[in-house]
Amino acid sequence: MTTLRNLPSVERLLQTQPAAEMIAANGRPLTLSVLRFTLEDIRTRFKSGQVTTLPSMDLILTQAESRLSVWMKPTLVPVVNATGVILHTNLGRAPLSDAAIRAMDAVSRGYSSLEYDLEKGQRGSRLVHAQSVLQKLTGAEAAIVVNNNASALMLVLAALANRRRVVISRTQLVEIGGGFRVPDVMKQSGAKLVEVGTTNRVHLQDYEDALKEPAALVLRAHHSNFKIIGFTEEPKLKDVANIAYEAGVPVVDDLGSGALLDTARYGLAHEPTVQESLEAGADIVCFSGDKLLGGPQAGIIVGRADLIAKIKKHPLARAVRADKTCLAGLTATLLHYLKDEAEREIPIWRMMSLTLKQVKGRAEAWSVELRQGKVVEGESTVGGGSLPGESMSTYLLELSVKSPDKFLKKLREQNPPIIARTENNKVLLDPRTVLPEQEGAVLVGLKNALRI
Ligand SMILES: *Cc1c(COP(=O)(O)O)cnc(C)c1O
Repeated sequence: MTTLRNLPSVERLLQTQPAAEMIAANGRPLTLSVLRFTLEDIRTRFKSGQVTTLPSMDLILTQAESRLSVWMKPTLVPVVNATGVILHTNLGRAPLSDAAIRAMDAVSRGYSSLEYDLEKGQRGSRLVHAQSVLQKLTGAEAAIVVNNNASALMLVLAALANRRRVVISRTQLVEIGGGFRVPDVMKQSGAKLVEVGTTNRVHLQDYEDALKEPAALVLRAHHSNFKIIGFTEEPKLKDVANIAYEAGVPVVDDLGSGALLDTARYGLAHEPTVQESLEAGADIVCFSGDKLLGGPQAGIIVGRADLIAKIKKHPLARAVRADKTCLAGLTATLLHYLKDEAEREIPIWRMMSLTLKQVKGRAEAWSVELRQGKVVEGESTVGGGSLPGESMSTYLLELSVKSPDKFLKKLREQNPPIIARTENNKVLLDPRTVLPEQEGAVLVGLKNALRI
């Protein structure tokens, strides 16, 4: 009769060759735990009658091995982005330049001058690192880098508006995604929200009226991921800034993406640049590091020196501070702009500047290599809450498969996983967002999934 007594002990399993291999690869404590876990699982299923026979030693060890490989599998892994969305928030937004990666690697391997003044040989501040490059690039008096743009906005509001009135247009009370809503962030920071205008229209007069009473700030938020069309009106930042200036109230511009290059060069709408916003009279501008800047996750705040000094002193600044890898990668990314080599060195600008002929050539090469698929015209988008509704022409590889959803799943099971999309029952892959060094992996993955 089969009884649980026939089950081998952990000690016996540990003496086997497969267990020795598990120990060599993953260490003894983890191997012990997975063997115990596997035995316990078998006992439970046996007792509940789910199984009536006990597995062999070999089978127990195989089960333990596969369970251990699941335990050890990281969930954050590189993927191939074949969606054509250049700044895909779910896929980690901007891929970094080689120089940025080298800079991040260099400061992570050992110690760094993060908060050390090498000239004076004493304690320094991490806030100096990207500052001078940002000043040179944007013309701003001062700058501070934090963890991301959401925290940048929160910090600016907390430091400059705490419990006082902040004037914002109803056209800009947006939800950016992931539950980040401008009005909620304003409330969280303790600011008193003063909404002006209507959902579709706001006039200069609305701002003038609101500023008759004392206010801490005027906030302008980029519409980010949506567009209002039709009967709409929003005064120019310059005009709002003039009125605010008269009232002695600073203007904060949350640019969201904050381009440093003109997107119109690539046939897209013009995304307001940081420089333009400052020139128009914004006292503080904040933007993301990993959207159109093409750097690591960061929130960048630039503007008037007296206001930045206040922001730096606020206790929240410590809570949202940027880490050394971010500061190193961001500085290296910013240097590309300073050296006028952004389009060549920063992957997202390289993707945007690819010619139609180049994209078509890549799609055609894939189709030739796979001996199937059709090259069709399509659209790539910028994503990341920038340039809503805008797209760039592209060429796609279109695959006809029996079950597109099952095929997408198969593509996700490749190593690295390939993320594609479907439309009208066809699988579509956009070469624009596939990094050149991933081409080989894409073809191997596609062949696997197609079983060729
Ligand atoms: C994306 C965005 C944010 C948030 O930026 P993160 O860097 O993702 O934190 C804030 N405001 C606007 C207008 C945005 O588009």
